[in-house]
Amino acid sequence: MTNSQIYGHSYPIEVQLASHSRLPESDIKSAPFGTVFGDHMFVAEYQDGKWGKARIVPFNNLPLSPSLAGLNYGQSIFEGMKAYRDVAGGIQLFRPKDHHARLNRSAVRTCMPEIPEDLFINGLETLLDIDRDWVPTGRGTSLYIRPIYFATDTTIGMHPSHNYVLVIFTSPSIAYYNRPVQVLVQTSYVRAYEGGVGYVKLAGNYAHAMLASKQARDAGYDVVLWLDAKNRRFIEEFGTMNAFFVLDDMVVTPRLTGTILEGITRDSVLRVLTDAGIRYQERDISIDEIREARASGLLKEAFGTGTAASVAPVAAIHGDGFTIEMPPYAEWKVAPMLAERLTDIRTAAVPDPYGWLHKVDSKQLKINPVLQ
Ligand code: PMP
Repeated sequence: MTNSQIYGHSYPIEVQLASHSRLPESDIKSAPFGTVFGDHMFVAEYQDGKWGKARIVPFNNLPLSPSLAGLNYGQSIFEGMKAYRDVAGGIQLFRPKDHHARLNRSAVRTCMPEIPEDLFINGLETLLDIDRDWVPTGRGTSLYIRPIYFATDTTIGMHPSHNYVLVIFTSPSIAYYNRPVQVLVQTSYVRAYEGGVGYVKLAGNYAHAMLASKQARDAGYDVVLWLDAKNRRFIEEFGTMNAFFVLDDMVVTPRLTGTILEGITRDSVLRVLTDAGIRYQERDISIDEIREARASGLLKEAFGTGTAASVAPVAAIHGDGFTIEMPPYAEWKVAPMLAERLTDIRTAAVPDPYGWLHKVDSKQLKINPVLQ
């Protein structure tokens, strides 16, 4: 039922194809985010100080020892990135080298070996080529790609692991938030602090944010807004998005201090703003400033940016004893422009002046070519 071949250049990839695609049975249009997975996954192991042979295999469970270092001590990081169906029907990865670079920043901070760029990019391209039918068609859709990278030593001594595994799997994604989000300002817990790990995608960052997110959702809100750990005044970011505000004709976003995630969408937004001639500032923004800006009429828009949600408008920000209702979305100019412009670039509907797109060429490797 399977066939096997070596694929790629500097890091050969052994490919074991699934006997059939689960795509026709999968209801990807109505499945909630992250619940349906592509047919294959990429797996590369780091052992004895070097990267061994990589492989693409049918999406499946991994064998895990209870003494796995990644489970016991949380030496586990990940990325979240996307591929888009372009207007000509091709497959485009969005800024894969920037995601790879951020994964390596996460690796360095958590004492894990860096991943060679060609191993990552070649694995990604091959996986996407094989599972290209999983990239949905239609504006606003995409294939979410989840690389995970974690420690696989099976001894529980407290030291950096010697063995690691990188797995890349995919999940088709239609829409993340289908309406402007209700935000709850989080004042009891903090997400990150100076000298910590807020700037990397450590799994533990998300583990310790779960309680606050759940409490917010149970109370009817969509996302939390984190404040800085020291003063509990300055805006850091939303649950899984960077924060932007439009104050009159100036866009403001928190500066990168090491406590917030260095969002690739955030960076893309800043480039698009520059080229659209819209001024922006990366600076400290207190929640009081946003309240005052709303009261004085200066606050025009508030939105989050992230790979999963792209540009997510905020409906209202709720804090202790106050609510900041945003002006009606129909009056907004910046967020809608950004959402459109990013979608146009990602789908190659307009030229990509930034070199953000990375086309996945078809190498004609299809599900079960032997049996068909
Ligand atoms: N902040 C956090 C905490 C996130 O998890 C994400 C999603 N990766 C972002 C911001 C946005 O980052 P990006 O634009 O790279 O997806």
